[in-house]
This record gives sequence, structure tokens and C-alpha cells, in this order.
Amino acid sequence: MKNKNIIKKITHGMYVLTTTNGGCIVDAVSQISGGDEPLISVAVMKKNYTNELLKKNNKFAISVLSKDVNPEIIKVFGMNSMRDINKFEKVKTTQKEEIQIIDDSIGYMICEIIDSIDNDTHTVFIGKIIEADCFKEEKEPMTYAYYQENKEDLLKITTEKGKTAWICTVCGYIYYGDELPDDFKCPICGVGKELFKLKEN
Ligand code: FE
Repeated sequence: MKNKNIIKKITHGMYVLTTTNGGCIVDAVSQISGGDEPLISVAVMKKNYTNELLKKNNKFAISVLSKDVNPEIIKVFGMNSMRDINKFEKVKTTQKEEIQIIDDSIGYMICEIIDSIDNDTHTVFIGKIIEADCFKEEKEPMTYAYYQENKEDLLKITTEKGKTAWICTVCGYIYYGDELPDDFKCPICGVGKELFKLKEN
């Protein structure tokens, strides 16, 4: 391949995907078709607990985050697992069609899962939109590129003084230790050590 960076020019957004008993941040959401019941696709990492849940559940919701969303929501849903914390205790949600919707969002779409495709790392779920609402139409959605450019400010990543810290440039996970092991993989987003950056104290 001459330059794989062109992939980064595909525009993505920032969304919270929720399903019964869990949810996570996703960026790869696409519309597949229009009409009365449009189809969308969403890619979810296989190592995410949410992926396991989506294989048991038949519905999910996508809440669309705005540029001025409370970044705490990104932290709670993007940098933690329901295996460790209850995300729904930390973020305000409202139940619609049995799924928790993020209150601090521009709106939501609720989908019935009609198909899925697995590859090595991700599952692409195809959803038919059965309910949707837009409650803050005037707000600008956050793009994945905006998030990447402003991540350090948004997440206010602080590390412990005197300890060498490595920060995952994709999700913000912090690893403490002088060196990252060669086979290290981010426990949150799965990327390798080459995507970690040394944080100077
Ligand atoms: Fe990560």
C-alpha cells in the first residue's frame, strides 16, 4: 500500500452505542439505506463487552454526541468496561423501547439488529431503525477528527507525579511503567505499543 493514512480521511462521528446491560463509544456508524425504516451499520470491537451483549440482544441505540457534550460521558463509555463499573450509574439516561438513551446527546436512533458480519477484530452490526428522535437539532455533532485533535483537553488526562506514564493515543488509557512490554495491547481499545505516547511529568 502506498499510503494507508488516506483511511483516516474517512469522516466518522462520536456516538454512544447502548444495548440492554451495556454500551460503549463508537465512531464507525454509516447509513446504508433510506426510506421509512432506514438501515445503518456500526462496527464494534470484538473484545468489547458490548459486542458480547449485542450477540445476545436484538436491539441497540445510537445516541449522537455534540461537540460540547460533557466529556465525562466519553470517559465513562469509552475508557471503561461494564465488566468493572456500571456506566448507567454515572451518566444520565432515559429509557426508550427498553434501551437507555444518553440525555446529553443531540438525539438517538433505536435499531433492531437484522444482520452481522464478523472479521478478525470487529463485528459490523446492521440495524433497522425502528424509532428515532432529534431533540437538539441546532447542535453540531462531534466528529471523530475533532475528538482526536482535542482529546487531551477534553479528557484532561492527568498522570501521577514521579511515575513514568504511557498514554494510549487512541482511547486515553494510561499505563504506568518505564517500558511498555513488546507485545502490549491496550486493554481498552486493543491497539499495540506503537500507538502509546510517553507522558513527560
Ligand atoms: Fe487504547
